Amino acid sequence: MSHIFPRHTRQLPPMAVSGQGCYLIDETGKQYLDASGGAAVSCLGHGDREVIEAVKGQLDQLAFAHTGFFTSKPAEDLADILIANAPAGLDRVYLVSGGSEATEAAIKLARQYWVEKGEPQRGRVIARKQSYHGNTIGALSAGGNEWRRAQFGPLLLDMSHIDPCYEYRLRQPGESAEEYGRRAADALEAELLRVGPETVMAFMAEPVVGATAGALTPAPGYFKRIREICDRYGVLLILDEVMCGMGRTGTLFACEQDGVAPDIACIAKGLGAGYQPIGAMLCSSEIYDALVNGSGFFQHGHTYMGHPSAAAGGRAVVGAILGRDLLPRVKTQGEALADRLADRFGQHAHVGDLRGRGLFRGIELVEDRETKAPFDPAKGLAGKIKKAAFEAGLICYPMSGTIDGRQGDHVLLAPPFIIEDTQLDELIDKLDGAISKAL
Ligand code: PLP
Repeated sequence: MSHIFPRHTRQLPPMAVSGQGCYLIDETGKQYLDASGGAAVSCLGHGDREVIEAVKGQLDQLAFAHTGFFTSKPAEDLADILIANAPAGLDRVYLVSGGSEATEAAIKLARQYWVEKGEPQRGRVIARKQSYHGNTIGALSAGGNEWRRAQFGPLLLDMSHIDPCYEYRLRQPGESAEEYGRRAADALEAELLRVGPETVMAFMAEPVVGATAGALTPAPGYFKRIREICDRYGVLLILDEVMCGMGRTGTLFACEQDGVAPDIACIAKGLGAGYQPIGAMLCSSEIYDALVNGSGFFQHGHTYMGHPSAAAGGRAVVGAILGRDLLPRVKTQGEALADRLADRFGQHAHVGDLRGRGLFRGIELVEDRETKAPFDPAKGLAGKIKKAAFEAGLICYPMSGTIDGRQGDHVLLAPPFIIEDTQLDELIDKLDGAISKAL
């Protein structure tokens, strides 16, 4: 009998024993095409020797030194390469062990910044519906995924949730994409005025929404307008790039394509690429200096933050993304995937929308293409697709998201940046089969 506490408590999943390139292999020898990297983690694929050797080498040298006493070379090197390639203004890197730790730290840093600046009345975060920022209490409070939040209501912090930027569902007939982008962003200003801008510390959003909405890209101009509004009311902009960052959309940071820089950025997943558990929060010198000139101490921390072997892994991953020219490859293979999705599913009776950037793609499934009505949640379509795909040897990431209080289904695809054309063909064939079976 297993003593593992699995996520799905009624069923123990198969045992993974090895990984090679775009494939995972279980103990029976079955191969799975990893078309979602679990959840957008495996950007380099499995078994990358360079990253493995970097982690091993660091373990030989120094496995752990507590950040309350020491910094380490891999942590310094990782911070340097991230800042050298980050959007302008981001100047400091706070290393943690994953995405929720990064977003939780971002919320707490935003709060401490305002306390140190002498504006302790700023305690509210404005975030968006249909978003996910992690599972710890602060991050879960910011997220707008009703399913994930449902049981924890009494524990959650009071935060605002405005509508996401969701062209497929919320753009009105006759409205241009730019007009809609501006209107969607103006919802932030309306909420600021409703709650009192002087009480708000930050606005938090995913540049391209991942798990809850299936690679939902912003309308043109949306984030520029968001940035303007944040600046007008002195509110910090936190961009959660945990899923969409680290090259997933074709640029190291997804927000580069929207022409904005945040005050705080969160990254994880692709930063460790599955080789090590690591995440990071990047912030501006303006924020960092407020602490330097104030208390001199960030009142937050984790034992394993800045872990040397995790940082060595992260440094090797970023080096590989940049040094192997993988960003242009994400763009070309992303287009190749988008073309295949359009060919196979563009006219599909139950595909409402195909969207995404780079190798971050989403398919929204609907009962009725005309009315955009989602399937009845009781059908459990996302779960059925996941199961059918897995049986066929395909790992993808189907999820239900909440649409106007009703569940909608989508499939998220986030394959390794090294994926080949023949593997894209395999992905499309297996996904098509799984969707047909699940419908
Ligand atoms: N933020 C976003 C946008 C995510 O997609 C996730 C995970 O899916 C998280 C935060 C939380 O990251 P982790 O699961 O590493 O804690």
